[in-house]
Amino acid sequence: MKIGILGGGQLGRMLIQSALKYDDEFYTLDPASDAPCSNISHFTEGNFNDYETVLHFGKDKDVVTIEIEHVNADALAELEKQGIKVVPNVAIIKTIQQKILQKEFYKTHDIPSPEFQVAWNSDEKIMMPLPFVQKMNTGGYDGKGVQVIKTEEDYQHLWKEASVIESLVDIDKELSVIVARNENGETKTFPVTEMVADPKLNLLDFNICPVFLSEDIQRQIDSITEKFLNAVNSPGLFAIELFLDKTGKVWVNETAPRLHNSGHQSQEGNANSQFEQMYRVVKNLPLADTDAFGYSGMLNLVGAEGYTGKVIYEGMDDVLKLPQTYIHLYGKTETKPGRKMGHINVLADSREELMEKLVKVKGMVKVIAE
Ligand code: ADP
Repeated sequence: MKIGILGGGQLGRMLIQSALKYDDEFYTLDPASDAPCSNISHFTEGNFNDYETVLHFGKDKDVVTIEIEHVNADALAELEKQGIKVVPNVAIIKTIQQKILQKEFYKTHDIPSPEFQVAWNSDEKIMMPLPFVQKMNTGGYDGKGVQVIKTEEDYQHLWKEASVIESLVDIDKELSVIVARNENGETKTFPVTEMVADPKLNLLDFNICPVFLSEDIQRQIDSITEKFLNAVNSPGLFAIELFLDKTGKVWVNETAPRLHNSGHQSQEGNANSQFEQMYRVVKNLPLADTDAFGYSGMLNLVGAEGYTGKVIYEGMDDVLKLPQTYIHLYGKTETKPGRKMGHINVLADSREELMEKLVKVKGMVKVIAE
């Protein structure tokens, strides 16, 4: 089967890596000539936001999917019309592309998400009490396009673009759950992952899976995933990012209609990874079991501050000596501060052991430049 992926980044790369054990041909489209997928697939250098480029890329494929949601959805709609399978369907991509539509989607389907107000422009009177969060309708990514407005003085910093004004949640934990649905309507859910942020230890980039949750909290999450999967009514793999607040209530922060950073530890930590699951979704195969073997965690390898240029992974030899520790690099030759260059997965028998190992590994490696 000819499988086309819009985007040629690490998510696509790991999908292809995982799927190479089957018999398919992968095609990727990305504006960067040295994108992570460029030398492991049939690669087209081009802009996935451009209508004609996407149409041209997709027209001879059996199925077209995405590894980034900021793509030209109108071109995907045209491909769908021409009988090319698009996963996930265009409607849900369009909804998720705009924060406003996404929030309205949750409201319509009775999926708990923080209270909000739509601000189409800067004339809108803000009714939300302080403090609140402003999220740009489009263009936000990796924490950019999100700001907290705490005081009356902060009002002057409000962005003028269309945005969502959302109530500030008193967050206890940030969680993520990856769900999948194939064309036959079969669904499978991965165990819940915690995204750990501990500013004291500067542990900003850990995932831990599974998370111990009370029956009540797990029930809330199950209800969210069920409602979400019914509402999208589309084949796809989705990462639902959640807030658990300090009163024990679960809220949906946002959803990604694709593979997600919060699922990387599934590569070694679960019976099957999110990448295997995505492959099965794309091909409408029976979905894979997602059981966790024990505790698994991930830390992102991010370009260190102050280093730009040809990448060097300092300390990697020592990491390679550790048991149950797995390095994944994304094939990016140039590092810059904050750039995601790879990740390391770690397995353990308990959460405590896992945290210890993650902290240790984090202290051993540094992504620098020549
Ligand atoms: P992005 O998609 O850019 O990562 P998010 O919507 O996930 O943006 O927001 C980034 C971070 O901001 C979240 O991980 C969370 O820590 C914080 N945040 C976002 N919305 C809220 C909210 N309503 N209340 C409290 N914190 C929030």
